[in-house]
Amino acid sequence: MSDFCQIEDWRLFAGSGRPFIIAGPCSVESREQIMAAAESISNAGVKVLRGGLWKPRTHPGSFEGLGETGAPWLSEAGAANGMKTATEVANTRHVETVLRCGIDAVWIGARTTGNPFLVQEIADALKGTGLPVFVKNPLVPDPELWTGAIERFLGCGCRCVCAVHRGFHSYGESTYRNAPFWQIPVELRRRLPGLPLFCDPSHITGRRDLVEDIARQALILGFDGLMIEVHPDPDNALSDAAQQITPGTLATMLSRQKTRSASTIDAGASAAIDDLRTGIDRIDAALVDLLAERMSISESIGRIKERSGLTVLQTGRWNTVLERVRAMAKEKDLDEDFITEIFTTIHRASMERQLKK
Ligand code: PEP
Ligand code: MN
Repeated sequence: MSDFCQIEDWRLFAGSGRPFIIAGPCSVESREQIMAAAESISNAGVKVLRGGLWKPRTHPGSFEGLGETGAPWLSEAGAANGMKTATEVANTRHVETVLRCGIDAVWIGARTTGNPFLVQEIADALKGTGLPVFVKNPLVPDPELWTGAIERFLGCGCRCVCAVHRGFHSYGESTYRNAPFWQIPVELRRRLPGLPLFCDPSHITGRRDLVEDIARQALILGFDGLMIEVHPDPDNALSDAAQQITPGTLATMLSRQKTRSASTIDAGASAAIDDLRTGIDRIDAALVDLLAERMSISESIGRIKERSGLTVLQTGRWNTVLERVRAMAKEKDLDEDFITEIFTTIHRASMERQLKK
């Protein structure tokens, strides 16, 4: 058993079923807004209410949250509807306000997780409070930074620590506001197997029409819960208007979500999977054999290049290889970008072999 709280502890914390849902507006905007949000979100069966008080905005002059003024309203809205409450903290003054106003849990925003000084200060301030901490991934897709922040909270005795996958910043045009890069939370789970893992589809997508599909993907992957931005009047929200959904959409979405078990399935299905996995293992072994053979041919080519004074990089040849495998992929209905990625890695390893003395 791990040292972390288990998702069962979370159920004790808030009495929520699986998946564990945290929902609420991006920002607390007024007493009326958070009261209305809490009531309708609670009617959808959600037990933990989120609401941002201090908003990390890219540009000055945008709505930066109500700060301390909104904290008692968040607590009141939670209490009036039998819900626990959570907000983002980014410094020790925020932690003091949270404690003074009786907010039940905190999350660490993506911009803070990437800053070890701040994370340590916040972790020290939370020492002994027993407050659950949700640690969002940093903006950069670096499992080390994310793990490091989690370690700082665990090191300060916080037992109820959870990770929240909210996607990663990427430059240029993309469907998503923050790229999902599922391999990063998958790696986090490999490193910290008992740590409850949440997904925030709102900040990944940045678009309300895509929230449900990302939530679905997270749950069938095996995430334990979701943090979703929900606003009574999303179009007029003071922050993140495009990605917030209404309480009604949340209720419909939750009624459609399917959960899966990480380990228990019936014996027949389990035997069928074992059987198919034998096939996968055989193919993996053949792939490694083929890669070894390819590498040894590449080494021989490298020796000839060296003897004849030819450069290692032969761009024309590399283009031909890439074009050929991409055409083959297309014929076999494989994703061409996937094949490009694999062959780029193979080609890099091959060149590295030829560069060795
Ligand atoms: C938020 O949850 O409103 C927020 C600002 O999150 P993130 O740190 O993931 O951007
Ligand atoms: Mn937001």
